[in-house]
Amino acid sequence: MNADVEKLLRCVTVDGVMEHLEAFQGIADAHDGNRASTTPGYAASVDYVRDTLEASGYQVEVTDFTYDEVSYAGSFQQLTPTPATFTLDTDYVAVDGTASAATSAPVTAVDYASTTSGCEAADFAGFPAGTIALVQRGSCNFSAKAANAVAAGASGVVIANNAPGLINPTLGGPSTVPVVFATPEVGAALAVDGATATLAVEVITETRTSQNVTAELPGRSDDGVVVVGGHLDSVPEGPGINDNGSGSATILEVAQNLASTRLAHPVRFAFWGAEELGLLGSQAYVDSLPEAEVDRIGAYLNFDMLGSPNFANFVYDSDGSTFPAPEGYVTPESAAIEATFREFYDSRGIAYEDTEFDGRSDYQAFADAGIPSGGLFSGAEGTKTADQAARYGGAAGQPYDACYHQACDDLSNVSTTALDQNSDAVAYAVLVTAQADGGPGQGPGGPGGPGHGGPGHGGPGGPGHGGPGHGHGHGHGPGATSA
Ligand SMILES: [Zn+2]
Repeated sequence: MNADVEKLLRCVTVDGVMEHLEAFQGIADAHDGNRASTTPGYAASVDYVRDTLEASGYQVEVTDFTYDEVSYAGSFQQLTPTPATFTLDTDYVAVDGTASAATSAPVTAVDYASTTSGCEAADFAGFPAGTIALVQRGSCNFSAKAANAVAAGASGVVIANNAPGLINPTLGGPSTVPVVFATPEVGAALAVDGATATLAVEVITETRTSQNVTAELPGRSDDGVVVVGGHLDSVPEGPGINDNGSGSATILEVAQNLASTRLAHPVRFAFWGAEELGLLGSQAYVDSLPEAEVDRIGAYLNFDMLGSPNFANFVYDSDGSTFPAPEGYVTPESAAIEATFREFYDSRGIAYEDTEFDGRSDYQAFADAGIPSGGLFSGAEGTKTADQAARYGGAAGQPYDACYHQACDDLSNVSTTALDQNSDAVAYAVLVTAQADGGPGQGPGGPGGPGHGGPGHGGPGGPGHGGPGHGHGHGHGPGATSA
């Protein structure tokens, strides 16, 4: 019986986690090197998770959801004084929120040499309506520059970078004219007397279908469901073994080892699609739940990156002791989830620290819906400090995961030490939360029901834990909004 916590932690092994990671690597190898949403590599990942859970006796649900995928086409040419053809994604990008529209007109440089180019309406005094506004990045939001240009009658907007290369800006809302972001070279070419250009942007919106995978372990009661989730998709650039094969594999390993137990509350294992495109699968899932089903969920535990090669043990700061969190995220129940993780690491003498509980992974939809949430994270592209290297080992001054979102996020890109510690942390938290008296999120409490040998741990620790935090930058939101 795995309901005994020590027994479960013995059964959940790093070898078991690695076996699933090897399967994910094999899937990527067989399918263009990645497991990104809507690709054959993702479909094979869904099949693997479903087959593995079914082999353990779970009833598995694979649920479709749809989302709009936006891409861009078009053309951009300078006609005078020096003709040039600019290439999409090399010389310029369409700005998220651009109109699908075209213009051919003179180019008017707007306070172009200034660091506040286009930020003030006064910059557009005397602006000839119908021309294309050329502004430079800096000081204010892209949306402010574009809105000022449109208000002055611009037929198009070119925002030139003030640094080498391109970024992916967003307006935060739809524009009525074509808006593009260009390299400094394009800006310099257009910022001359007598410049004219044609600019055409085509916004292409296609409906895509992806899948979430869920399976539920029934509890002795029907309420207080503990949802244990992580994203199953990778970025298109690589196989996604640490991000987030590590979370998916750990959840699978825990699910397999709990399959024959019955805890106080149900445990629902979840594998989300399209997280890398903006937390889409988990949001679609929460949106699909009737209110009564939302109310039936007692806690959401998120596991997005657990095996970073140069890891730190980050616990979401779901008691708000170190970082500000969005309104409503921090509750006594979310604090109890963090306390449960702390309790595990403390019991093993393993170092840990807080990280932002800001909604930048799949727990966002749950926390937004008022569901107590928490989770773990082993670090992404952020840099390990000397203090962290002293406490966790590894290399100071280096990223937690140097292969974050890259092709090299493969089977060699995980720390088995991190996976070993964190898979036990996950198993412990799932068991304690699902066995808690009065439902999950009521604080880790007494033993489970008769014959189940409860976890028998102490209460939550006092305040004042947690070292200095670090932005993990595991961001999945829209593009840059400002300078
Ligand atoms: Zn991730």
